[in-house]
Formats: sequence, structure tokens, C-alpha cells
Amino acid sequence: AKETGKARCVVYNHEKFTQPEHDVSMEAAMFQAVRDGEFLLHYQPIVDARSRQIMGFEALMRWSRPGQGLVSPAQFIPMAESNGLINLLGAWALKAACVQIRRFEEVARRPLYVSVNVSPRQFRNDQFLDIMDEAMQLSGLSGEQLLLEITEGILMSDPEHAEALLTAMTSRNVRIAIDDFGTGYSSLAYLKRFPIATLKIDRAFIKDLPSSVKDVAICNVVLSLASHLNLNTVAEGVENQEQLDFLAAHGCGLIQGYHTGRPLVPDEIIALLKAEQAS
Ligand code: C2E
Ligand code: CA
Ligand code: CA
Ligand code: CA
Repeated sequence: AKETGKARCVVYNHEKFTQPEHDVSMEAAMFQAVRDGEFLLHYQPIVDARSRQIMGFEALMRWSRPGQGLVSPAQFIPMAESNGLINLLGAWALKAACVQIRRFEEVARRPLYVSVNVSPRQFRNDQFLDIMDEAMQLSGLSGEQLLLEITEGILMSDPEHAEALLTAMTSRNVRIAIDDFGTGYSSLAYLKRFPIATLKIDRAFIKDLPSSVKDVAICNVVLSLASHLNLNTVAEGVENQEQLDFLAAHGCGLIQGYHTGRPLVPDEIIALLKAEQAS
């Protein structure tokens, strides 16, 4: 779906989410919203920690409710996960993000990657591989330009299924990132068993850098672990220069946060990439 007149951009820019209403009516509205095409994607830049060049984007879903503004994914993703709509929404998001990133590349004139969130229910869905293949065919995106973000719990809940799926992804050069790394209850065993490419360090560990001694220790250990295992690292929720300086100095490769770029609508990303071209 193609979005956005200028007036809407202003609203999205500030990312003011509306307060949740009663859940039952929200759920009913959601089914209708899928039909009416009220969902859209924002794209948040992921930049190189040292050069600050944009390397890729995370696609983040939004629900634009007529007359009510934007609803946060924290609000509707859990609901979509429990009622199954996430399969439909997730498939749309994957395809839309792959197609969109090709347009960004045309403007940037260099390869970019896209990071797409995959929920547990999507990961378990038999059709997931077909949907992924379709997204890549439709867009012409190559495997190494697609990063799928999953949470650590998904892998060990059904390791045989995960193994088969990840093997199929690896054969297409599609990479896997562990989202919210360190916040789940899982062990590190999955890092040994599965071909993981990237760890995304959760904002919870970034927020109080560099003043919190504990967060400094945790980040250092995660960055060292990643380096020894040859994994890429993305720090999430970087909001200021002190955090960025600490992370760059301690070997974190990539940065994602309000400090280096908020989630934006495609037109705004295109403007950003054009400005980069002109400079
Ligand atoms: P996430 O995957 O951990 O995504 C990162 C969240 O942090 C996003 O929230 C992003 O807007 C926010 N963020 C980025 N930089 C900063 C920062 O500097 N400070 C702060 N305070 N926050 C920052 P968002 O967009 O509200 O998404 C919330 C969650 O909803 C995501 O967390 C993800 O779990 C889920 N989600 C979003 N889009 C999708 C999707 O397409 N599919 C699925 N399954 N889940 C999605
Ligand atoms: Ca994510
Ligand atoms: Ca995350
Ligand atoms: Ca997070």
C-alpha cells in the first residue's frame, strides 16, 4: 500500500500513540482495519557506530485508526498474536518492507538491508518459508539484505522446527537477529546450536549507560561474547551521544535509536537518503 499525504507525516513524525480503548472493540476494529488497509510501516535507521552511515532499517508496524491517530504495536501486536491476525499482518509487513527497501536503494545508490520482526506464531506457521520466498521474489531483494528478528525463546521452544527453518533460511543467505537479547529466560545454548548473525542489545541495558556500573559490565560482556562468536551487534534505544560514544568505543558495530534516527515514514526516509546523496 502506498501511503502519506504531508499532513499525516506531521502526526507520524512525533509518534504520538493514542491511548488504548476497551480491548473487545479494539479487536473487532482490528479485523476491519486489515481489510481497510489501516496498517503501515515506519522505518528506523540502523547506522554504523563509527561512520554513522545508514546501513539498513528496522520496519516497525503502526496502525493508523481514522480519527484516532496511531496505535502502538505494543498495543495491537500481542492481540494479533493471540487471535492469529499476526500471520496476515506479518506476511504483509515482510513483503511491503522488502519492496520498500528496494526503493530506498534506488535513491541511496548502494545496498541497504531491512530488519523485519517475526513473531512466535509466524515462526511456527507452516507457510512462513513460502511467504519469505514470495517477499524476496516480489521485491528482487537478495537474501543477505534481509534480517529476520526473533526473540530468544522462539528457538528453544521447538528446536527441531527452528533448526529446519534456520537451515532453509541460511541456504537463501537470509540472516537471523536475536531481538531484545538478554531479556528472556533462555540459556545461551541456542547461540551454539543455531546460525545466528546478529545480537540486538535491548534498550534496558543501554538506557543507563555509561553511568550504571552494571549496565557497563553487561554491555561489555555481550559485546565481547558477540565478537568471539563473530556476531554483529546492534544497540537498541540509543538516545544520546554519551551512549553512542561508549558503544562505539567498546566495539558495538551498529546503532539504532532516537539519537541517530527516529522511525519515519518512507517519504521521510527518501528525503534523508537524498540529503545524504547531496552532501
Ligand atoms: P522492538 O522490536 O524491540 O522495536 C524497538 C522499539 O523501540 C520500537 O518501538 C522503536 O520505535 C523503539 N525505539 C527505537 N529507538 C528508541 C529510542 O531511542 N528510545 C526509545 N524509548 N524507544 C526507541 P515500537 O515501534 O513501538 O514497537 C514496539 C514493539 O512492537 C517492537 O519492539 C516489536 O516487538 C513489536 N513490533 C513492531 N513492529 C512489528 C512487526 O511488524 N511485527 C511484529 N511481530 N512485531 C512488531
Ligand atoms: Ca525488533
Ligand atoms: Ca528489540
Ligand atoms: Ca526492545
